[in-house]
Amino acid sequence: MSDLTRRSFLAAAGAIVAQPALGAARQKSPGKRRSGVDVVIIGAGAAGIAAARRVMSAGRTCIVLEAAGVVGGRCLTDTALFGVPYDRGAHAFYTPESNPVARLALQSGFDIYPAPRGQRMRITRRYARESEMEDLLATMVRANGAIADAARKSDVSTAQVLQKDLGEWRSTVEFMLGPYLCGKDVSDISAVDLARAAERDVQAYCRQGLGAVIAKLAAGVPVKLSTPATRINWRVRAGVEVETAQGTIGARAAIVTASTNVLAAEKLRFAPDLPKRQVEAIEQLKLGSYDHVALELSDNPLGLRTDEFVFERSSSARTGVLLANIAGSTLCTIDVGGRFGRELAGKGATEMVAFALDWLDNLYGSALKRAAGRSHATNWNEEPWVLGAMSAAAPGGQLARRTLMESVNNRVWFAGEAVHERLWGTVGGAWESGDRAAQAALRVIAPPAAVPKQPRQPRRRQRAR
Ligand SMILES: Cc1cc2nc3c(=O)[nH]c(=O)nc-3n(C[C@H](O)[C@H](O)[C@H](O)COP(=O)(O)OP(=O)(O)OC[C@H]3O[C@@H](n4cnc5c(N)ncnc54)[C@H](O)[C@@H]3O)c2cc1C
Repeated sequence: MSDLTRRSFLAAAGAIVAQPALGAARQKSPGKRRSGVDVVIIGAGAAGIAAARRVMSAGRTCIVLEAAGVVGGRCLTDTALFGVPYDRGAHAFYTPESNPVARLALQSGFDIYPAPRGQRMRITRRYARESEMEDLLATMVRANGAIADAARKSDVSTAQVLQKDLGEWRSTVEFMLGPYLCGKDVSDISAVDLARAAERDVQAYCRQGLGAVIAKLAAGVPVKLSTPATRINWRVRAGVEVETAQGTIGARAAIVTASTNVLAAEKLRFAPDLPKRQVEAIEQLKLGSYDHVALELSDNPLGLRTDEFVFERSSSARTGVLLANIAGSTLCTIDVGGRFGRELAGKGATEMVAFALDWLDNLYGSALKRAAGRSHATNWNEEPWVLGAMSAAAPGGQLARRTLMESVNNRVWFAGEAVHERLWGTVGGAWESGDRAAQAALRVIAPPAAVPKQPRQPRRRQRAR
């Protein structure tokens, strides 16, 4: 059996109700009246929680407004459905040694363990041979070389720069670089964005679930759940005013971590309207589609190890990737993404589960269907306050990430996974971006105290010698 490490793929590829406590908002209840804090943060996902922790650690007050009934956003661990932790969104810590969330998870006592090295490749009913894996790796290296070369010249679509002669690996390479990595097809992805993306080794998982980590890190952060921000007025005298159905909150700054799709859908409005640059940047950074179909498969009918990843040598975009025996349980996920994943998710959970079972059946045989127990399918495109999976820049759109890092009038800062040049699409990137936005806001609302001037010494007259 031959393994191919994720590092080699990608190196080649270039709810809790948080307790109002420390540094909590000054107001007791927003009610219908106007109340105030230093910073209002929109969204209690990874970016929003990171931002709030930074503001609070600087001794400033904040409130996090969260539209959903739970914290976590795209990091959500469900323990009720299968009786074991099931991450409906993000599951893996990429590069855990430098991942701030992995570090904090360890410090908070979570059980973080390394993912097994390598992935396997199924070619219909058998695994790929060593020579075939080497061939795939060489093809990935060539594809990524072409992406890197093209990215130095101009920002075109990834599909445009891939070689014509990728042979029987074409669909697989396109799936790995596109739907699997970015949630979009290669024709919809900026080659520069892909070339600049940081390596995304799946190296570590959390036995209690990644969503559980974000929920724990939110403890002590003042979060108002089920409170969508509807409008941000950013030209008021004292800073900003954030409108919600329960009232208006005044603050000196706002940090907005709502996804680019939520912003593009204008579920949060701005008064005055956002400058054209930011509106265009949001449009360039829209989210792709990526979903899990979760299946209970008892007695390990596929004969796979714990947390083993299996791809397929595919001949079309109708493919997925399997993560088996999650954390040693009977839970497996089959992930789908890109245009195909979007269409499939649009047909509903029953169709998604049917696809996953047929896909596995095609690769492993029908005995598996008998082993299948409970199932579930996510549909992140329909989650009303997320509307997609992860942001991959459209061709020509990579610079939009920098634009979104600029403040709006030193009053509003955007943060979240889309607002990171190299770690977009990741929890670590979202966290870093939230932390960075908070630091930028703090520099404006609470600049470091100026060093007091030394009193001038009276000048002595020089005596003539
Ligand atoms: C299926 C799937 C699998 C993934 N796998 C991985 C993985 O293995 N590893 C990894 O690193 N990343 C993964 N990702 C990506 C990762 O989940 C995201 O990059 C990250 O969680 C985004 O965090 P965020 O804080 O930027 O945004 P979000 O998590 O979307 O948080 C934004 C929050 O804002 C709230 N909100 C929106 N509008 C408003 C409003 N008007 N008022 C108040 N609140 C509002 C939302 O409800 C949400 O809670 C995956 C994503 C998906 C969908």
